Amino acid sequence: MKIKSVFAREIIDSRGNPTIEVDIKTESGGFGRASSPSGASRGLHEAVELRDGGPRFHGKGVLKAVENVNKIIGPAIYDMEASPQEDVDQMMIELDGTKNKEKLGGNAVVAVSMANLKAAASTRKMALYDFMGGEKLPIPLLNIINGGKHAGNGLSIQEFMVIPAKTECFSDGLRAACEIYKTLNEKLVKKYGRTSRNVGDEGGFAPPMSRSSEALDAISESIEECGYSRIVGIGMDAAASSFYRESDGKYFMDGNYLERGQLIDYYGGLLEQYPIYSIEDPLFEEDFEGFAEFTEKFGNKIQVVGDDLVVTNAERVQKAVEMKAMNALLLKVNQIGTVTEARKAAQIATDAGMQVVVSHRSGETEDTFISDLAVGMGATQIKSGAPARGERTAKYNRLLRIEEKLGKHYSQVW
Ligand code: PEP
Ligand code: MG
Repeated sequence: MKIKSVFAREIIDSRGNPTIEVDIKTESGGFGRASSPSGASRGLHEAVELRDGGPRFHGKGVLKAVENVNKIIGPAIYDMEASPQEDVDQMMIELDGTKNKEKLGGNAVVAVSMANLKAAASTRKMALYDFMGGEKLPIPLLNIINGGKHAGNGLSIQEFMVIPAKTECFSDGLRAACEIYKTLNEKLVKKYGRTSRNVGDEGGFAPPMSRSSEALDAISESIEECGYSRIVGIGMDAAASSFYRESDGKYFMDGNYLERGQLIDYYGGLLEQYPIYSIEDPLFEEDFEGFAEFTEKFGNKIQVVGDDLVVTNAERVQKAVEMKAMNALLLKVNQIGTVTEARKAAQIATDAGMQVVVSHRSGETEDTFISDLAVGMGATQIKSGAPARGERTAKYNRLLRIEEKLGKHYSQVW
């Protein structure tokens, strides 16, 4: 299955920013199309997104990245076999030659990497999840109240999610989440007025709240009213780097500046009060020791997810394993730049007994790659925002279609 055509173009993402889309064709009629997502709460150690600067799209154009695919990467991988994926990814890693893909652009490289995997599956006339050997559906983590950098309200914590972990199957879980989302909608309008129907970047409501407990009260009441208390829990992505002040090491939470220990105690209080299953990035992304302390304290009770902490980077995941700094990995392929490197990070995590949560970015396209990836990798969870906004629902709807083929095999974690 030789690669016979590689073509990149500029398209737009869910925030109206340009991003790169790549088409790959193989000699035997295979075709793969993929596009790069883009984060707002980006980790310090992520692969670089190449942006053009200048007046076009307020500097966010990706024509240079497009050119890098069409003029450098394309010719280099032309005539290579699309499978194994490792060879194509390795070629791009070598072509780029930098640690953070700053030369060719992580956005250029990741779109080629994902398109290539799709092209390989398509050449075999297989769905991507099937080509990868997937058998089970992941548990969805649906972000139904947005804060932090994803919304214009006063919530420090970025994401408040529902986790339908104990339903019979994925489709029942999604249905429960949608019912809770609707109940929450009515509740928020009653209490906070019509503006609380406005949604943030990931489709969750962005009500005028400023305390985490307000969000957690509204969600836990909605879960209860819908009758799902025993099967649906709550997840949070604090994305704590976004409310961390490096000058004095304090965190701005609910109107107060807290020391690390105080913040950990604060989370502890929330864990006692609410049915929380999972917390992501509770502390600043360089604070491996703090994460280790947090995991030691709460890791036997809840899932502790590392996102900005490890940025899907095998070396940082290894460090987190050695320091027991988390018990689950958030996997975003564009943080590291290739599918192969992301899978390596996941392998280190799973070998250490950790969970893997495949994730979207706050800036997304209609590409459903992550749905197939989650199933294909055997990841037990997927995070793709609220059950709202087409770029989010595309992923969940893809999983519904996969469930039709695979049957109701659902991951079990909690
Ligand atoms: C996240 O932090 O997990 C996330 C999805 O947000 P972003 O894409 O903005 O990094
Ligand atoms: Mg995160």
